[in-house]
Amino acid sequence: MEKLLVQKFGGTSVADAGRIEVVADIIAKTISEGHKVVVVLSAMGEETDRLIDLAKSIQTEPNLREYDALVSTGEQISVALMAMVLGKRNLKAKSYTAYQLGIKTNKMHGRARIVDVKVEKLIKQLDKGVIPVITGFQGMNEEGDITTLGRGGSDTTGVAIAVALQADECQIYTDVDGVFTTDPRICPKARLLDQISFDEMLELSSTGAEVLQLRAVEYASKHDMPIRVLSSFSEGEGTLVEEKEDMERPVISGISSIDTEAKLTVRGVPDLPGVAAKILGPVSDAGIDVDVIVQNISADNTTDFTFTVDQTDASSAEEILKETSESLGGGSIEVDDNIAKVSVVGRGMRGQSGIASKMFQALADHEINILMITTSEIKISVVIQKDLMEKAVNALHDTFQLDKNLDT
Ligand code: ADP
Ligand code: ASP
Ligand code: MG
Repeated sequence: MEKLLVQKFGGTSVADAGRIEVVADIIAKTISEGHKVVVVLSAMGEETDRLIDLAKSIQTEPNLREYDALVSTGEQISVALMAMVLGKRNLKAKSYTAYQLGIKTNKMHGRARIVDVKVEKLIKQLDKGVIPVITGFQGMNEEGDITTLGRGGSDTTGVAIAVALQADECQIYTDVDGVFTTDPRICPKARLLDQISFDEMLELSSTGAEVLQLRAVEYASKHDMPIRVLSSFSEGEGTLVEEKEDMERPVISGISSIDTEAKLTVRGVPDLPGVAAKILGPVSDAGIDVDVIVQNISADNTTDFTFTVDQTDASSAEEILKETSESLGGGSIEVDDNIAKVSVVGRGMRGQSGIASKMFQALADHEINILMITTSEIKISVVIQKDLMEKAVNALHDTFQLDKNLDT
């Protein structure tokens, strides 16, 4: 049966001319099997990092409009090259930027959200047998300025296009075989999952598993678009991310980790109603996302207030906190970016007691000190010292026996 597939390829998959040929093989094979394909690409290799460094070498806090104009160029290179390679093989292909297609976003430069995707042009090209090759990671705002969707944003472009075209599946090709129980680069015993629910993938992505951008999973889950994560380096069925009522519910489905956050503490603020709002209000007004929050119980009518943000936001958050602390009569601000957050995620955790204590005991047995703890119904996260992250992930993977498929 003919299918309409969106195939997105990440940076490592298109890192050089040789890799672009390999990806063209995958696209050509899918076409030869009778399917229609829309291709979405990331920038080649580390190109986006290079462009970001370049911008920061000119301006430490780059002008956001020009930052997006610059960092979006990486994708334009890969799509043009891919269309050439496909053309060389007598496959009809055309590159498109988000601007040419009218992928509309809100105005948040650097972390824009897609609000509308026009597909008329794409459908016309598909009907003519053309393979559209589209830049990931970018859109345009109401003013017609280029925006970008945040790191890893090509995943979201892929899903948004799949949803708009009502494709059968959004295939995200990357440099690992699919979604594993934890990052296979950190834990050699990580096990490939053949399927995972949207809920669990949302928790893994939101706690640091960069294999799928969180927004891509949110978008797919909202529109019920199945995502398949596959490797462009080896053959296999990959992992299907979708909602299914009869899905097995392992207690723990995965472990995620992130070491790009910083911890900020404001000392000795008054322990009064409204203080937390006064501290976090200006931080969120500045567009800074706050992650783990801990407020100590006060002993002397003052309290310490600690939270984590992305490292790139740490210095802006520190400036804001200095002002707040002064106005509240609080004490000093401390910033620590020598931290990592490790999370254990599983929908089956609901109604199971003892998971947290098992996790804390495993960390204690490995002499890993816990700095902060946060939990949700299906997740327990701890903040620890950065250089212990790998040890913690491996210890927890062993403790919860994630290398074994305990459902079968
Ligand atoms: P791409 O450039 O293809 O978008 P990313 O680097 O964004 O690739 O995502 C793939 C990487 O995600 C893998 O190389 C792996 O190190 C990491 N990763 C983190 N957690 C997981 C997980 N649970 N399963 C698979 N990969 C993971
Ligand atoms: N090239 C962008 C990045 O490096 C988008 C992506 O790869 O998904 O973040
Ligand atoms: Mg990615």
